Amino acid sequence: MAKQETVEHKYVYAFAEGNKDLKELLGGKGANLAEMTNLGLPVPPGFTITTEACKAYLVTGEEPDGLADQIAAHLASLEQAMGKRLGDPEDPLLVSVRSGAKFSMPGMMETVLNVGLNDRSVQGLARQASGADAQTSGGADRFAWDSYRRLIQMFGKTVCEVPGEEFEHALDDAKRAKGTHDDLDLDADDLRGLVDAYKKIFFKHTGREFPQEPREQLDLAIRAVFESWNAERAVLYRRQERIPADLGTAVNVVAMVFGNLGPDSGTGVAFTRDPASGAQGIYGDYLANAQGEDVVAGIRNTVPLQELERLDKKSYDELLGIMARLEGHYRDLCDIEFTIERGKLWMLQTRVGKRTAAAAFVIAGQLVDEGLIDLDEALHRVNGAQLAQLMFPRFRLDHEFQPVAKGIGASPGAASGKVVFTSARAVELAAEGESVILVRRETNPDDLNGMIAAQGILTSRGGKTSHAAVVARGMGKTCVSGADEIEVNVPQRRFVVGGQTVVEGDVVSIDGTTGKVYLGEVPVMPSEVVQYFEGSLDPEHVDNPLVRAVHRIMSHADGRRRLAVRTNADTGADAARARRFGAEGIGLCRTEHMFLGDRRELVERLILARDNTEREAALAALLPLQRADFEEIFREMDGMPVTVRLIDPPLHEFLPPLEQLAVNVAVAQERGEDVAQEEALLAAVRRMHEENPMLGLRGVRLGLVIPGLFAMQVRAIAEAAVTVTRSGAVARPEIMVPLVGAVQELETVRAEAEKIIAEVVGDSGVEVLIGTMIEVPRAALTAGQIAEAAQFFSFGTNDLTQMGWGFSRDDVEGAFFWRYLELGIFGISPFESIDRDGVGRLVRIAAEEGRAARPELKLGVCGEHGGDPESVHFFHEVGLDYVSCSPFRVPVARLEAGRAAVETDGSDSR
Ligand code: ADP
Ligand code: MG
Ligand code: MG
Repeated sequence: MAKQETVEHKYVYAFAEGNKDLKELLGGKGANLAEMTNLGLPVPPGFTITTEACKAYLVTGEEPDGLADQIAAHLASLEQAMGKRLGDPEDPLLVSVRSGAKFSMPGMMETVLNVGLNDRSVQGLARQASGADAQTSGGADRFAWDSYRRLIQMFGKTVCEVPGEEFEHALDDAKRAKGTHDDLDLDADDLRGLVDAYKKIFFKHTGREFPQEPREQLDLAIRAVFESWNAERAVLYRRQERIPADLGTAVNVVAMVFGNLGPDSGTGVAFTRDPASGAQGIYGDYLANAQGEDVVAGIRNTVPLQELERLDKKSYDELLGIMARLEGHYRDLCDIEFTIERGKLWMLQTRVGKRTAAAAFVIAGQLVDEGLIDLDEALHRVNGAQLAQLMFPRFRLDHEFQPVAKGIGASPGAASGKVVFTSARAVELAAEGESVILVRRETNPDDLNGMIAAQGILTSRGGKTSHAAVVARGMGKTCVSGADEIEVNVPQRRFVVGGQTVVEGDVVSIDGTTGKVYLGEVPVMPSEVVQYFEGSLDPEHVDNPLVRAVHRIMSHADGRRRLAVRTNADTGADAARARRFGAEGIGLCRTEHMFLGDRRELVERLILARDNTEREAALAALLPLQRADFEEIFREMDGMPVTVRLIDPPLHEFLPPLEQLAVNVAVAQERGEDVAQEEALLAAVRRMHEENPMLGLRGVRLGLVIPGLFAMQVRAIAEAAVTVTRSGAVARPEIMVPLVGAVQELETVRAEAEKIIAEVVGDSGVEVLIGTMIEVPRAALTAGQIAEAAQFFSFGTNDLTQMGWGFSRDDVEGAFFWRYLELGIFGISPFESIDRDGVGRLVRIAAEEGRAARPELKLGVCGEHGGDPESVHFFHEVGLDYVSCSPFRVPVARLEAGRAAVETDGSDSR
């Protein structure tokens, strides 16, 4: 049997065997230690136990076959390379045992330093440390005992779950007894005493003595690192960061080097550029006479890395050389950890460093200038989420303000202004040039004007998917929702929070990123990136590296992308803004918003009409209003396509709520007033009540049931187009029929529309397209038929998701999505990012079959997915012609469409 020598699974890699591309297997830390080793940089020798071994261990709770032997073999080579044996009483080799997963999870997992120390080898370590320089033997003793107490502390905490505070208290006690705050004042005897105290703590919690056998220490530490993958905080962190749960962690075993050997030793961290701004030049912290953990733990004050030049010029110069080399090699910002042991520099870690959104753009631009990467690569290295972040104003954090409440950061940004409680008041004050924050318990569609006028929106109820949140995100307006410590009293125009009363006109500040609410005005900085998009900062002349970088990368994205980007806009102002942001047309102009506000009354007349004459009169009154709206939009979008959706929501949405009407009627009857009109309205509301309004009388169904409604809208569109075109601009209307499920529905609407269009357009040269939304699953599955009657499709992915999953959007997100996310049924809400496998498949089928039936069919998508980075990549892959999203998301979609092109179509060969 033994001779058969089956090929054994390789679980352990020496550093010399790995490289930076093996992150999945060796973890980020291990892969990069290997890379540095192979670059010839001074890395202490060591080896990496793979994520495969970790995964196997986590399944069975035991080390997989062969692992122990492989570790023994690699340990033997390590001992040979170092000329020492692990834990040798005379001259011990010590190692660190370090976790390292594919994605960095800062502070989530564990590291144990100084493994191999015990009651005997601590003496050997002291003798060896003093050997080189007899005068420092006192220092050497101190160093050895300090290292030993660190081992017991880290091992106890990490491997045996001894509460960390107990060790810290013991350390504090020792310092107090000595009358100092600085652990450097503890001498060898103090530390020896501390080791005794630590051992007692260890025994108390584990019921056993601190293990003296070095190999046992090593094995237990490795196990503990494996297990830390499933520690609760690690699980939570992964869920939050959307890191897959099944990757496992690798374990690195590294020969120790010592930064705590005296003043000519030390340890530090550094970045090759400023990770906050992206500015060139090194950034870092250094701490003399310390072990690695001390720098991040903030135990003592670090000095800026530049100080090292004075302390140890040779190591400093070498370090700078290595950093430059790493940047050139990784072609990116690197962060590093290093230790200096008696004047000798050691590299302990590197990785491509995390950075702020601003730094991501600035650095990508710089690296292009430096010839390290090309523009395709620069585009690949930034993303839409970062760009979105840069578009929001921010609070200046150099001011001390305490939040009074915390809600949900529903739509990012920072806003300050006077509190108002009604939409009307918001509009009034805004017209006087005031900044206002609209405060409501919840918002509803009637608050729209107030939301537009306000600087920010604060609600005490509702989550990330409430009306306030969704609309605010769409408008790119700051919103904090669900701040439930706030008690809103609209009639009295005040809110109470933490015992304080805030009345209309008082100033508050809200942070839509953190959800925090402040009283008073926190100073805000506007986004330079938005100023650039709006045209008020000239990228060629402004001395702002961020704006220049954004401009450069956006221009490249525009050159590369295949998807056009349109916007969802219902007003001329929105359209104009979106155009400045780079929109190439309107993909969704909702007409129902034109029926709100003071026009509601006309809709009521339409609904209550007792005969044709009354209905026609109501429609005739709506016609000029609609026409004027369209004229304004066509003018703004001169030369660009404008897709207008015929009315979509159920009509009762335009009527007052049933309960309110019923109360009004009852009260008025009581007083003996004439209530005929109100009663008629109440009867209509009762008649039109639906159990499932989203699946009821809406969209194309309205057009087929209410004579003249769609005809009025089509006429308004065509007439507006003719007027605008006659005045010298170019109107390109596209009429879109919502909620079609069968080609017959579309054919009926189309026949009537074509007649009206032909009559209105005459020889004006205006061309009007007629198409449909694909948002009912049946439409997607019969797209081949529907394409016969449609000149374009626009995927309404919100409804398609709603009906594809059978999720009532307004109900499900609050009710049970959290559970679905927890169970991993989906990783992200399908309303946020398109479900490729299901809903996405419907899109794919409809696109293919639609194009097969009508090759020139235009394909687009409207709905929130059009501005979602992941979804944009999907629409690119499916081969749509455009995406449409809210004005504020247009730059994000442009950027992501460019990235999608670079990533799926390969590098630019031009
Ligand atoms: P993290 O992933 O939390 O940064 P690390 O594994 O990098 O944890 O280790 C924490 C600290 O211990 C680092 O600052 C590192 O410099 C130090 N350290 C790790 N291994 C060694 C070693 N072999 N010799 C000296 N210091 C080490
Ligand atoms: Mg580290
Ligand atoms: Mg819809």
